[in-house]
Amino acid sequence: PPSLVFQLFSTSSGGIPLLEVKNLFYRGILKDISFRVEKGSVVGLAGKNGSGKTTLLKCIGGFLNYSGFVLLDGEDLKKLSSRKRVLKVNYLPQILEISFPYTVFEFLLSSLVPLKGFFPSLADEDIEKVESYLKKLNIYHLKDRIFSTLSGGERVKVLIARLLLVDPDVYLFDEPGAFLDVEVLPFLAEIVKELKERKKIVIITAHDLNFLLDVADQFVGLKNGRLFFSGGKEEFLENVELLFDTKLRILRSQNEVFIKPYTGHRREVSE
Ligand code: ADP
Repeated sequence: PPSLVFQLFSTSSGGIPLLEVKNLFYRGILKDISFRVEKGSVVGLAGKNGSGKTTLLKCIGGFLNYSGFVLLDGEDLKKLSSRKRVLKVNYLPQILEISFPYTVFEFLLSSLVPLKGFFPSLADEDIEKVESYLKKLNIYHLKDRIFSTLSGGERVKVLIARLLLVDPDVYLFDEPGAFLDVEVLPFLAEIVKELKERKKIVIITAHDLNFLLDVADQFVGLKNGRLFFSGGKEEFLENVELLFDTKLRILRSQNEVFIKPYTGHRREVSE
């Protein structure tokens, strides 16, 4: 058995390797958010529009100046340079506008720069790597297109390729399904499951609660900028009506669960 000293001081192998959000506040928008995620977990972040999901992902991603802590294996991510931080935690934004006329290929190649240290020089293997991800995501034909001219769905695929190229420890996906055609969702679910097998941490928001139920094993509910609950699938199902203030049907078949809104009428649920 590992020694006590090892148990006390090792966070990456002896203890529980994890991401911890601790007493996080952002302006008046996020209020005292705390939760923990173990490696190899996929967190479904749920809540009504305006509940603070995007703001929380931006804080964890290091784009907003929050107070409180985001710790990875005990390390305060605020203490890292932005170059190092993007390698630990990286983000799939809902919308990305880039003002430079980069082609898809140039844009993806530039995403490898933070991996290169202080004097980046890109090599043949980087070009091969970018090309292999373009093929993997079925967007090789977009290689020479200017990024800003792409459709919403095409952009999302390029941004997923960028995220996979950087391959951080923590992947943040903000509404990845929003612009994707329905046949791309199983593909996205595959990507998330593969990341889980590779012991990454994934935090994902989606309006499609059934997609979240399918990919996530841990759930965090936000309501008015506060943590409403955090827990597993059953806790999510117990809390989901109050989280959205609406009556929902929860349908179970064999190992699957579906959430279906009542259509035609809407009933408020009292807290
Ligand atoms: P969600 O992703 O759950 O829809 P957001 O994180 O986008 O919620 O927004 C949470 C709240 O913060 C909303 O009330 C929104 O209007 C507000 N908000 C978001 N961005 C800003 C900003 N840049 N300045 C001021 N308020 C903002």
